[in-house]
Amino acid sequence: MNGYRTADFHCDVLWKLLDNPELSFADDETNKLDVTLPRLRHARALLQTFAIYIPERMEKTVVPILHSIDLFHRKIVAAPGMRFVRGPEDMRIARENGEIGALLSLEGADGLQGDLALLRVLFELGLRAVGLTWNNANWGADGAMEPRGGGLTGKGRSFVEECNKLGILLDVSHLSQQSFWDMADVTKRPLIASHSNTQTICSHPRNLCDDQVRAIIAMDGLIGLTYVPQFVRADGKAGVDDVLRHVEHICGLGGANHLMLGSDFDGIDNHVVGLSHPGEVYNLYDSLVKRYSDEQVKAIFAENTYRFLTTYLPN
Ligand SMILES: [Zn+2]
Repeated sequence: MNGYRTADFHCDVLWKLLDNPELSFADDETNKLDVTLPRLRHARALLQTFAIYIPERMEKTVVPILHSIDLFHRKIVAAPGMRFVRGPEDMRIARENGEIGALLSLEGADGLQGDLALLRVLFELGLRAVGLTWNNANWGADGAMEPRGGGLTGKGRSFVEECNKLGILLDVSHLSQQSFWDMADVTKRPLIASHSNTQTICSHPRNLCDDQVRAIIAMDGLIGLTYVPQFVRADGKAGVDDVLRHVEHICGLGGANHLMLGSDFDGIDNHVVGLSHPGEVYNLYDSLVKRYSDEQVKAIFAENTYRFLTTYLPN
């Protein structure tokens, strides 16, 4: 992997830290974390997005979100060689200095309760990407696993417009089909699916159908390949070559320049064989270089994400 960097647009380390503040991202001796500083270094990471995720059983207010942001600053950004990414310049500096960019995202905006002032405050604290829902419905939209399959509410639409205005990236990975199309209709900026594969290869509501893949490509968005075994292969017995089938399918739809990595490390109990933490990205590399050019693999590993973030993050 000479000359390679890697970029991963989704992990749930912050949730594990919120659940157990004893854990250490910088120096994990418990082996309870997938994503750690030594492993990111080993993977030559240029970017890791850290998602704030508040489980259903916790209060739906901004309080646990703020606690997660506190952990992000104290445990992630403060670790040596990390760079807090808020704009294009931070990405360029991280690249030049060989640092690891840390981007803050929110997975499920339930705790904001539609209050756009809270969204603006989170932007000031460095939030740069948001998924409106997790799997269930909330004040703004229905999620991918909500049986009624509704779309965006009025408040959800206002939320999308405010994200566009601020420059917060919109993540569709957990949205219902209808919410996706409503959001695609409202947004004036490209959408990303930070951690979703394709339904054609593995039928699951959390994966994208071909029309969604085409729509994301058409708006210059990004799709993050995810290593959730059940989203890679229907029986969940997934290996690295099964991930490759999703790459092939998305490339077949014209998405070679719109693919990125979206592992979902620390958000999963089971792993794809050969992809159990960032340090194993070399297995994916070995599999990809057999079929794709160096330039194409570099694009998937980091360059598409780098181009996107230096283009679409707010200055
Ligand atoms: Zn998720």
